[in-house]
Amino acid sequence: MMATMSLFRRLPRASNGFSATLSGFGRSSLCFRGNTGLAAWHLSHVRPVSTSVHEYGNFDIALTRSGLSVKIKHDAEHRRRELFPYLWLRDNCRCSSCINQDTQQRQLNTFEIPQDVHAKDVEVLHEGVDGREPGIYLTWNDNHKSFYPFPFVNQYTKYDNNMKGEQSSKVTWDSQGVDRKLNTIPFTDVMQGDSGLASLLSMIHTYGYAIVTQTPHDTPSPTQHLLERIAFIRVTHYGGFYDFIPDLAMADTAYTNLALPAHTDTTYFTDPAGLQAFHLLSHQPAPDTTTNDTSQKDSMGGETILVDGLRAADLIRETDAKAYDVLSNHRLPWHASGNEGIAITPDTLHPVIENDSATGELVRVRWNNDDRGVVPWDGGRGPEEWYAAARVWHSVISSSGSQFQLRPGEVLSMVFFRYSFSLIAYLTSYSLVFDNYRVLHGRTAFTGIRRICGGYIARDDYISRWRTLTQDPSSVRLRTIGC
Ligand SMILES: [Zn+2]
Repeated sequence: MMATMSLFRRLPRASNGFSATLSGFGRSSLCFRGNTGLAAWHLSHVRPVSTSVHEYGNFDIALTRSGLSVKIKHDAEHRRRELFPYLWLRDNCRCSSCINQDTQQRQLNTFEIPQDVHAKDVEVLHEGVDGREPGIYLTWNDNHKSFYPFPFVNQYTKYDNNMKGEQSSKVTWDSQGVDRKLNTIPFTDVMQGDSGLASLLSMIHTYGYAIVTQTPHDTPSPTQHLLERIAFIRVTHYGGFYDFIPDLAMADTAYTNLALPAHTDTTYFTDPAGLQAFHLLSHQPAPDTTTNDTSQKDSMGGETILVDGLRAADLIRETDAKAYDVLSNHRLPWHASGNEGIAITPDTLHPVIENDSATGELVRVRWNNDDRGVVPWDGGRGPEEWYAAARVWHSVISSSGSQFQLRPGEVLSMVFFRYSFSLIAYLTSYSLVFDNYRVLHGRTAFTGIRRICGGYIARDDYISRWRTLTQDPSSVRLRTIGC
């Protein structure tokens, strides 16, 4: 199992310590309502105020002509800036007259703030006193008062994209998958409490997939309820929650019994499905099969294949810079055209590997060669360069070292019923939930009749649920709305 952890992905360290420090910041405390009870620092001109601010380091804070100067002494974090424009600060006042405290929506008219707005007083409160939170208090030239907690200032000295502070470690895996102990959770845990659901979502966020054991399989409903615990199910032109036995009514190879190479789903959407779940409810020999040979269970096929797209992208980045460059820059059309009245293609062209342009971190893998349109010329690059790079990608994701197989014989061994001479039924007790932005899935060909159910959840709904269940609410607010 150690081998699976060999590619530990190291992300920039999160802002450790913030959530603990922020946990005491209630909503009402963010609103500054005058009468400090303490002497404010009155600064009509540039005059540094030296402060010692615990883990935020030593700040030198001063009012200057063009904004609030925040200089960090002994900066070990290579901060990006030390001056906050007054207009920006005034626009981000969190007081109850500027922000609706229930909806957190701005009710200040940004464009009524004079362009030359400036602060006339600054007060730095090192520690909470009389219900006032530590932080920076500004009095504006029109006497409006604003409060900025230290973490707010700290975040914006460091980041352009403030959400970067929430990144958590991701762990990649190979053909061995993830140790079951780390990413398996019983159905009842997920259904009964938020801590179980939080565990499920953390597993998916870290590893890209999670296995929910003991999912009831008599009917598809429990699997549907499992998905709805996360968020509402996304409806597509194929419907919402599905429950099917292969036929070609849906005009898609997923509805046949052919092998499916590793792919991501809904590459043809501007925002592809975020999570996907599926659950094999049963797998039986075809009705005309008269044998009671139990060895058939080994020959019916239909193993689920999972490939970690994050690992594949990392491997190519490390070993073939040219291919990686093409895969992450050459933009392609993707499409869904097989159904009457349906002609779906994303608003813009998308490359196979999509990265955050600021951090280089993987945002999304988009790969289904069957749904790929015609390879275009993109800028100065011709299609032949894309084909060469795509061959590298194909080779990595289809190699035996990348493909983790969930074997029905193994998966189903926990609940295996044989309930007539001629009928062998595999009743699985597992459902699988995975990140369709990261993990590719496929299956081997199969015989017999499978009943499978599942559905999609939109990316933003999944991440929102993960965020609210696994993070301190105040640290979430800090990153999204600054308080
Ligand atoms: Zn205000």
